[in-house]
Amino acid sequence: MEPKELWRSVLTALYPEIRHDQFVTWFADTAIISNENGLVIVGVPNQYAQNWIEKNHKGAVLEQIQKLEPSIVAVRFVFESTLSNIDDTRRVSVNSVIPQQKKARKLPNKQEVRVNDDTTSIMLNNKYSLHNFIVGKHNRLVHAACSAVATNPGSQWNPLFIYGGVGLGKTHLLQGTGREMLKNFPNKTLVYFTAERFLNEVVDAIKKYNAHDFKARYRSVDCLIVDDIQLLAEKDRTQEEFFHLFNELYNANKQIIISSDRPPKDLHGIEARLQSRFEMGMVAEAHFPDYETRLAIIQNKCSQEGVIIAPEVLDFIAQNVHNSIRELEGVLKQAIAEMRLANSTPTVKSIAAMIYRQAPGIPELTGVTKLQAEAKSSVRSADDIIKLVSDYYRMPSEQLKGSIRRREVMMPRQVCMYLIYEILGCSYDTIGEYFSGRNHTTVLHSCNKVKTRLNKDSKLLQDIHALKKEIGL
Ligand code: ADP
Ligand code: MG
Repeated sequence: MEPKELWRSVLTALYPEIRHDQFVTWFADTAIISNENGLVIVGVPNQYAQNWIEKNHKGAVLEQIQKLEPSIVAVRFVFESTLSNIDDTRRVSVNSVIPQQKKARKLPNKQEVRVNDDTTSIMLNNKYSLHNFIVGKHNRLVHAACSAVATNPGSQWNPLFIYGGVGLGKTHLLQGTGREMLKNFPNKTLVYFTAERFLNEVVDAIKKYNAHDFKARYRSVDCLIVDDIQLLAEKDRTQEEFFHLFNELYNANKQIIISSDRPPKDLHGIEARLQSRFEMGMVAEAHFPDYETRLAIIQNKCSQEGVIIAPEVLDFIAQNVHNSIRELEGVLKQAIAEMRLANSTPTVKSIAAMIYRQAPGIPELTGVTKLQAEAKSSVRSADDIIKLVSDYYRMPSEQLKGSIRRREVMMPRQVCMYLIYEILGCSYDTIGEYFSGRNHTTVLHSCNKVKTRLNKDSKLLQDIHALKKEIGL
């Protein structure tokens, strides 16, 4: 059997035996690397997947392989960092072996958890789960670590420390991990704190009763999650309380999950003893996703919201947001709002106009210039511009579009092409079609001619200004 076919059959047979999320986490991007002398070697993309599969699924994998190829006697899993480069003739996408109805999973409702007594109930936002977190190359490791913790809390990945810039999904991962853990272990107790709330609780505790009771309050939890730990910088008393609680939980093999905007060693104002504890378990970075993942995130969001937005608009948004996923979602949210309010469909131009409006100082977006974005919405097509130019120079549209090569016709024609290019961003080919099927080099030449002449011909400059003014530019 071909390696790919063999591996696909094995995965298909294994899928029903393994929990969906674990399957997706651990078997993504795996492939048979070699099959020789009765030994099958399977490449996996990271150390965690290797450990996990070795420990939990090795027997089942071998059994399935043997059903198909009885001559195989052993299977080994190796961490292959170059696996993503492996040719596609071997790699099997996990999605291709998952039955259709499993792919769209409904999220259960909000979860509320009580810890000990009256005071502490935490709410994990039901928006966030490990399943609706889109996994790409850039965040596979951090997501795998979270899944590992959710299925195996308090073991080797303790504490789990996630760091990365604003809006890159840290809170989402922390909450998703908490939720997943509670789903796996309904009897476990868990507390989620923003660092700010942690701080307030400590201050309160100090005010109301002996601060050392603070630790007593939370030491019975099975999992402690603290988001944005950098906010505890310089808060010595709170750090002290946190340190004691940390030790107590850690020594009792309770899971601790922390997020921060920077790695432990850069946490200035946080005690060294805490920094070094943060490094004892697993430290993983949340990265900004690549274009494909950004696109997947907004596609996913659209389907969650039940809206359909044109692919070129989604593509435009994915291309032009460079800082955080929150920003990406913000733009999309506005687009959706616009769509619902005006009962219209967002276009690349309307989105661009929105982004330029909100961030006047940003550099030109890929695909739509400021000028194009700002053009009055009454100008939508090349015909609108041809009409405008025709009125301005008092020259019939047919003549503009036609083939007369007299200077008094050619100049307005070139102006017309130039404006269509600048304002609508049409390709030279498309513009050529409006002008009796001229080819794109002719159009390019015309546009360039106008551009260079603008520097020395004040009449032309005036004309262009006047024309633009008419469309509100
Ligand atoms: P951080 O805590 O790092 O500042 P958040 O967790 O608040 O970032 O993420 C910002 C927004 O982006 C959230 O709405 C979150 O759901 C979304 N998000 C981030 N990464 C992903 C991802 N990989 N898949 C889906 N949504 C994501
Ligand atoms: Mg956050």
